[in-house]
Formats: sequence, structure tokens, C-alpha cells
Amino acid sequence: MKSKPCPALASLLFLSALLAACSPAVDGQLVRNIDEFNAATDSLAPGDKVVLANGTWSDVELVFRGFGTAESPIRLEAEEPGKVVISGQSNLGISGEHIVVSGLVFRDGYTPTSEVISFRTSKEELASNSRVTNTVVDSFSNPERHSSDTWIAIYGKNNRFDNNTLLNKGNRGVTLAVKMNTEASRENGHVIERNYFGPRQTLGSNGGETLRIGTSHYSREFSNSVVRQNYFDRTSGELEIISSKSCGNEIRDNVFFESQGTLTMRHGHYTLVENNYFIGNRKPNTGGIRIINENQTVRNNYLFGLTGHRFRGALVIMNGVPNGPINRYDPVIDSILDNNVVIDSDHIQLCAGADAERSAPPTGTTMHNNIILSNTNLNPFTVYDDISGISFRNNSINEGVNPPLDDGFVSVPYSVAENEHGLRVPEQTLLDDIGFGEVKLPVTKEETGASFYPKSELAAGFQSGKEIAVAPGTNTLLDALEASRPGDTLLLENGGEYLLTKYAYARHPISIISKEGDKPVIRSEKSSFFIIRNGGSLELDGVWIDGAESPDLAGNNVISTDRYSMNRNYSLIVRNSRVTNLDVNHSFDFLKVFRSTFADSVEILNTEMTNVTGAVLAMDKETDDLGIYNVENVRIENSSFKDVRGAVANIYRGGTDESTFGPIVNISNNTFSNVGLGSRNKSGASMLFHGVQKLHIADSTWNDSAPLELFLTNGEPITRIEDVVMKGTAPIRANNDGYEVENVIYD
Ligand code: CA
Repeated sequence: MKSKPCPALASLLFLSALLAACSPAVDGQLVRNIDEFNAATDSLAPGDKVVLANGTWSDVELVFRGFGTAESPIRLEAEEPGKVVISGQSNLGISGEHIVVSGLVFRDGYTPTSEVISFRTSKEELASNSRVTNTVVDSFSNPERHSSDTWIAIYGKNNRFDNNTLLNKGNRGVTLAVKMNTEASRENGHVIERNYFGPRQTLGSNGGETLRIGTSHYSREFSNSVVRQNYFDRTSGELEIISSKSCGNEIRDNVFFESQGTLTMRHGHYTLVENNYFIGNRKPNTGGIRIINENQTVRNNYLFGLTGHRFRGALVIMNGVPNGPINRYDPVIDSILDNNVVIDSDHIQLCAGADAERSAPPTGTTMHNNIILSNTNLNPFTVYDDISGISFRNNSINEGVNPPLDDGFVSVPYSVAENEHGLRVPEQTLLDDIGFGEVKLPVTKEETGASFYPKSELAAGFQSGKEIAVAPGTNTLLDALEASRPGDTLLLENGGEYLLTKYAYARHPISIISKEGDKPVIRSEKSSFFIIRNGGSLELDGVWIDGAESPDLAGNNVISTDRYSMNRNYSLIVRNSRVTNLDVNHSFDFLKVFRSTFADSVEILNTEMTNVTGAVLAMDKETDDLGIYNVENVRIENSSFKDVRGAVANIYRGGTDESTFGPIVNISNNTFSNVGLGSRNKSGASMLFHGVQKLHIADSTWNDSAPLELFLTNGEPITRIEDVVMKGTAPIRANNDGYEVENVIYD
């Protein structure tokens, strides 16, 4: 134990203070294990400091209670910031007054409870006037993808959460939540600032919010939380990046970088959203600010390159439910959407979500002095209901753009240039006219997060590592896979024969390719060729997959996900390849997925498949109709499918939840011949899309195949089918006519 000797002579007051906690506060009491920690924290006094020894602390539930003072807080620190790693089934709860926690890293584990860092130690014991700073939670995700937990739960009052790094949450549940479930946690005045909210993968379900303040239940109470100068870097869990569900919050000076979703004032009133920067860089599903409820103020925000439509438009004002229950949408009343700068963004939605239930349009609301310049979509405004309750004044739009009304909009040339800070800005006179001030990020990525922790990527990209030549033979490919590193490329010999006698696991991103020439052939004696494990991804390019050596069993597949939950998304790309003889027995699929797995993307490009007794992509395993699904993006292009007894694609997303973006499917330039007619193909469709949110099918031909089937549901799915020929194939089947068709020829 590191401690200063007690001085022999000192004032009585000083001596008694030292005797009370004979490890003087200046150095703190170093503890090396949970028993020492528990002993040291049994009764903490103002000025005490407990120091966790460097190293890995596995399976520890740290409870830290005490009453410090503003002058003499009680501290919990790492011996050296970043060198104390809390792993396994672990968590931390703090309660009392004036507690300060710093320097910890939570990694390689997950919480056995519902929270990783909690500002309470029991229902009654909350932390107030306390702070967590310079701390990291990285990939501390429950392995069960749909098992929900919250990484940071802030209870009590006047707490500060600053300069922390939170990244790579893989399982369901809000990353950081301000809790208001008891009186003692309301009107809390918490400050959440200068944190780095690092990448959060698409969850494929509701429950992927990065920050939530309150819940619908207490949403008409004031939280008065302040969220400022945080950097949200690709926080793309779901529709809501921030879900403000309480009154009186202030969300200012934050940066949202290439994040899918929006800052949503989901419930509660009197929230201020000011000087936030949304940098979408034209990435898909990037959105801005969504206004719901009363007396909201949205002003002086900068939004660039946002492509999201519908609820994730750049600016969205929702319709509400008249006298609706507390968990539905309150109408927008007396709100302000003024002085915002929107550049190169596609959608501004007024009265969004209008339907039989959400029938109340906004009232008493202003949209003044906004600058909206975009050449990417000359019809950015979508008006879903009566906008007479919105006052429009002096909004600048570029020439050629259709305003929602004639009054209140001024046409100006599209004149946008990059300024000295690398941001695209309109002419200075326009900015001066609305008093916008300097266009500059209010905080940089480097200024946020824990000082010691890198802001690096979780997964290596395909072909980002070494290229390794693999000689033909039995299990040479398997051995090379086992020895590979993330991002490596395994280069097969042209015309070579590769046999797998065991399962080949993709445990990290890996590419198996050949150069142009005779395709190398891969055969397997197991019921799966490749299994994608958690954290894995697979790219096949220029290979021939042949089922001739597969076992004579029903239900084989070429590629399978892990059988158990995967809390990390994967990608699969098949390019310039050939697939033959998946027909030794029935139900031989190309890709088989399991529940609680999720692909960011699955692509089949320039590939031909023949003789498949199962399905090519059967991604229909989330059947509970909870808005959960198996894949975000599907692309099938320039490919041909012949004699496939199952469906080429069966994509399923059920339920009425509106908080996700996908699935998004693009099918173009393909030929389908004798596809989907097998007696075991339950749907009887060559492709079945259920609840797909964006579907585009073009330039494809069906020959003597089962029909295409659509089940259009969830929100407003966008479905377009054009330039297709269906020979000897029954007409498209659909549950309704909410899809566009152009130049579909049956003959
Ligand atoms: Ca949500």
C-alpha cells in the first residue's frame, strides 16, 4: 500500500483528519483486488481516494458509495489512466455526493446487470454532484445481440459525464441514458460533454439509440440535461441517435459525423437544439433534426450532405396524435425552426408521419431565416398535411427548388463554396443576413473522449492486410485461414483444386480470391463450407464453389453464420464466381443464417449459380414481427441463377416498428431461369420481400420461374420495379399496390 507516513507533529485538526483515513488523500489508497477494494470503500470520507492497481480486473462488481464535499470529493481512479481494464462480467455503481471516477477502461466483457456504469447503487441510493471522466467503455457488449442493457445510466442530480469514450456497442440497449424514474432524478441538470461516441453498428431493431434522456413515462417532467460538445462518430444504431424524452433539455455544439439517424425530440417540451453540426457526407440514411411536441427551439444548426428520407430527413416536423397517450406523438405546437443552414441535403419533411392516428398538423410554429441550398434534390420539401400552422418567412432556397409555399421563400443562386475550415458554406451575405456567425465545427474529434484511448476502427476492411498465396490441396485453404490475420487476402492458384475436410471459419474479415483466369475450385466434405463467426466477414472473388463432395444430407450450405447470437455485424461479398452442384440432397442453401445474426451487407455480383436444391439467400429467420431482421443491404447484380429450387432471396422484416432503415435491396441485370419452383419452397416465390424498406429491381429477366412476391409493410416502403421481362412466369404477387412498376413485360 502506498501511503505517506503520518507526521509526528501537526495541528490537532490535521492529525485527526489523517487518522480518520490514514492513507492520506493526496496519494490515495492503492487496491489490488476486489477484497482490498471492498475493504477500502467500506466507509469513505471526504477527500478519500481509492486507486485501482494497473492490470486486468475480471468479474468485479464495484460498488462505490460515499459522501464527499465540493471541496473534498471522494475519488476512484486508475493507478495510471487507461492501464486498469475491467473485463468479464463486471460493472460499477456509484452513489452519494461528490464522487469522481476517472481513468478506467471497460473492455472484453459485459455487465451481468442492466447497466455498466450506474449513477446509483440501489433504487434509493443515487449519486448526485458526481462525475465520471476520462473513462472508456469499448465493445462491452452482451453476446446475446437482443439482450438489452445500458452502458451508462445517469440517475440523481447535477452529475457530469465528460471526456469519456464509448464505442462499438453491439447489443441492444441505449448507450447512455439519463434516467428519471424517481423524483430524485428529475430536474437533474446533468451535463454530458466532450464525450466521444464512437461507431455504433446498425442494430437492425429498435433499441439502438446512442443517447436517451428520459422515457415516455416521465416525459412531461423536466430533465434540464445539457448535452454539449460531444462528437457522435457514425453512431448508426437506429433512427434515433439522440432521443430526447423529457422537457427542458439543451443540446448544443455537438457534431454528428456520418451518423445514420436523427436528433429526435421524441417526447417532452421546451428543448433547445442549437449550433449542432451534422456532417452526412452523402452517406445513406444520414439525417438531421426531428421535431415533435411543444415549445421546441431549433436554431443555428448546420447540416451538410444528409441523404435520409422520411423520418430521417435533414429537418423534420412531425404530425401528432390529438390528445394521444403519453407514449405516442404529441402534436408540434409553438415551436421554432429558425436560422439553420442546410447544404446538399435531400429531404425536408413537414407534417411527417401524417396518418389516421397522427392527424394533428403543427400549429403556432415558425420556419424563418433558414438557408437551404441543394442541387442533389430539387424537390426537397415533402408536405404530408396542412402546413397553415407553420409561419414561413425569409427562407433562402436555390433557384429551381420547389418551395412548399410561394410566400416565405426567396430564391437565390446555388452558390456554395468550401470555407477555411473545410465546410461547405453559402455566400457570406446570406449568413450575415441571418446572423449565423462563423461556420466551424464547435468541437473536433480530437478534443473529445478519454485522453489515452485511440479512436480506431473495430474491424479491418477486406483486403487491408497481407496477400497470402495458397497452394492447391486438401485443407491448404483451411490452414491458411486459421493462420490468417484480419483483412488478409488468400490468393488461390488459377485452376487449382481445394478440398475442405473440416469447417472453414471466417473469424475476422477475410478475402479468398484468384486472379483472372481459370477459377480455382473449392469443395467441402462438411455440411457447410464456410462458417462466419462473430467478428468475421467473408469475400469470395473469382472462385468456383462446387457441391460435388458435400455429404449426402439434407440442409447443407456453402456459407453459414454462427448458430448462436452474433453481436457484431458481418458482410458477405461474392464476386466473379461460380456455384455448381448444390444438389446432392434437398435444401442445399447457398447462405444459411440463424436468428440474432445481422449482415451489414450481402452482395452477389457477376456470379453464376446452377443446380441449387435450397435457397440462395434465406434471410428470413426473425419471425417474431418485432421489427427485427437479418440484413441491412442486399445487392444482386449481373448474375444468373439457373435451376434453383428455393428462392434466390427471401428477406423478412415483420412488425410495425418504425425505428430502422432497412432492409434495402437492389437487384439489377440478372437472369433467373427455373427458379423457385421446388416443392419445398414454402412461399412459392422466386424472390420474396417482406417489409423491405427500399427495393429496386431493374433490367432482369425471369424464365419459367416462380413469381416475384412483395409484402409491403412498415411505414412507407419504396418499391420500384422497372425494365424486367417475365417469360413463362406468373405475374408479380403483392399484398397491395403501393409499388411502382415501369416496363414490366410478361410473355
Ligand atoms: Ca428508438
